[in-house]
Amino acid sequence: MTQIPTVTLANGVEMPAIGLGVFMLPPEETVPSVQAALNAGCRLIDTAAAYQNEAAVGEAVRSSGIAREDIFITSKLWNRDQGYDATLKAFDATLDRLGLDYLDLYLIHWPLPASGLFPESWRAFEELYEEGRIRAIGVSNFTPAHLETLAATATITPMVLQVELHPFFTQPALRDYARAHAIQLESWFPLGGRATREELLGHPLLQEIAAHYQKTPAQIILRWHTQLGLVPLPGSSSPAHIEENMAIFDFSLSDTELADITALNADRRLGADPDTMDRR
Ligand code: NAD
Repeated sequence: MTQIPTVTLANGVEMPAIGLGVFMLPPEETVPSVQAALNAGCRLIDTAAAYQNEAAVGEAVRSSGIAREDIFITSKLWNRDQGYDATLKAFDATLDRLGLDYLDLYLIHWPLPASGLFPESWRAFEELYEEGRIRAIGVSNFTPAHLETLAATATITPMVLQVELHPFFTQPALRDYARAHAIQLESWFPLGGRATREELLGHPLLQEIAAHYQKTPAQIILRWHTQLGLVPLPGSSSPAHIEENMAIFDFSLSDTELADITALNADRRLGADPDTMDRR
C-alpha cells in the first residue's frame, strides 16, 4: 500500500497530495471504487452534490473501518443552491447524505458569474467554517477575475481552487495567481477526461518517459501534477487503475521532463467554460 504525502493548506490543514474523483460513478460503482482507493492508501475522496453519490461515499467510508479523521472528504455546493440561505440548507443535506457531522473541504462548484450569488454563498461558507463544521473552504472553476470579485467581500481567502488542469491545458496564469495568494490547486480531468484520455496517454513523449521509469503514462502525468504542487483527482472505477494511480511516489521526474510535459500545453479546455457554464 502506498504511503501518500500531504500538502498543507493556508490554514494549516493537511490534505492528501492525490485523491479519487467519483464524478460520473453511479452509487453501485462508487462504493467499490472508494473501497479500492482506501485499500490502495488513498485518503482523499472528491464528490459533489451534483454527482448523486454522496450517500455511497459515506457508506464506503463507514464500512472501511478507517477512522473518520484519517479520511479527507470533499463535496461541492451545486449551482441551484447558490445564495446564503440555500447554501446553508444544501450543506446540511450534503452532510445528511454522507452521514457525517463535518466535511474536510467544501467547494462552490461553479461561479455562475451572471447570477452574482457567489459572494453570498461564500458568506455562508465562512460561517460554516467558523462554526467548525468544515475544516477548509474553497471554490471550483473560478478564474482570477472571479477570485478578485470574491476578495472584495470575503474575509477568508479560499484555501483550495479546483479547476480543469492537464498537460493539454496547463493554466499558467491561474497557477501564478494561486501561488501568489497561497491557494492550493486541485486538478480535475487530470488525465484528460474520458474523451481525451487516450490521446493524452498515447502521446509519444509520455510513452517515452513512462518506458524510462517503467511506469505507465497515467502515472507519469499524475506525478507531473504532484511535482508541480497540484493535487490531482483521477477518476476510475477500475481497482487496478486506482491502485496504479496512487503508486506514484517512488520516483521523481527531472526538471527537464517536467518542463517538456508542461510544454504540451495547447490551451485546450475540454470541459465547460466557467464564465458561461450555468447548468442548474
Ligand atoms: P480523469 O482525467 O481523471 O480520467 C479520465 C479517464 O481516464 C477515465 O475514463 C478513467 O477511467 C481513465 N483512467 C483513470 N486511471 C487510468 C489509468 N491509470 N490508466 C488508464 N486510464 C485511466 O477525468 P474524470 O474521471 O472525468 O475526472 C476526475 C475527477 O475530477 C472527477 O471524478 C471529479 O472528482 C473531478 N471533476 C471536477 C469537476 C469540477 O467541476 N469541479 C469537473 C469534472 C471532474
